[in-house]
Amino acid sequence: MYAGLNTSFIGILEERGIWTEKCATCGACVLSEYGGICPLTRCAKRLLNSPCGGSREDRCEVRTDRQCAWQLIYQRLKRIGQLDRLKKITPPKNWNPSLDGGYRVIVREDHRI
Ligand code: SF4
Repeated sequence: MYAGLNTSFIGILEERGIWTEKCATCGACVLSEYGGICPLTRCAKRLLNSPCGGSREDRCEVRTDRQCAWQLIYQRLKRIGQLDRLKKITPPKNWNPSLDGGYRVIVREDHRI
């Protein structure tokens, strides 16, 4: 087999020649909790409950060329009137459905013969 395409990530075209990752396909989507901005994908530390405190003037302390994901999340939730979501404590992430444990299998008993 010869690969015709090489998937890098699930992202969008920001501008000509620049794509940014928006989804890490972790298998346990949290987008609805964060106004459609995934902290697992966008935050360099994958923080789920708040920013790390290292952000300066909306920049990520790990990647200063990027906006802090939590700045984006705050702005989005404020804009859509859902800042209350930030009061909720998110439990530790279940990484079982992610790719880190090896290849993934989906079983739908209702589709099996
Ligand atoms: S500055 Fe923001 S994006 Fe960067 S690691 Fe901290 S919380 Fe995450």
